[in-house]
Amino acid sequence: MKRVFSSWNLAAVHHARNVLDAAGIRAVVKNEYLSSAMGDLPPAECQAELWILRETDQAVAEQLLFRPQPTGPEWRCSCGETLGAQFSQCWNCGNYRS
Ligand SMILES: [Zn+2]
Repeated sequence: MKRVFSSWNLAAVHHARNVLDAAGIRAVVKNEYLSSAMGDLPPAECQAELWILRETDQAVAEQLLFRPQPTGPEWRCSCGETLGAQFSQCWNCGNYRS
């Protein structure tokens, strides 16, 4: 077992688990209900945690969870709209990036 992610945001931890699950990596969420004990325990020990079952999955898991968001120059659609690099389709006219 190896912890690969922790957050106060339980939804974020579950999302991360789903991302790993989709890639075939078994993982479990720990401390899911511990935040209600906050005040009695050190705060850092109350975050929800995501643990992978096989430590050999760690490198792939971290790449899936922490890969950088696509960045780059904006692009201009044929309709004249300027869009961020992370978008592959124009919101204005529906054309795909060429
Ligand atoms: Zn367009």
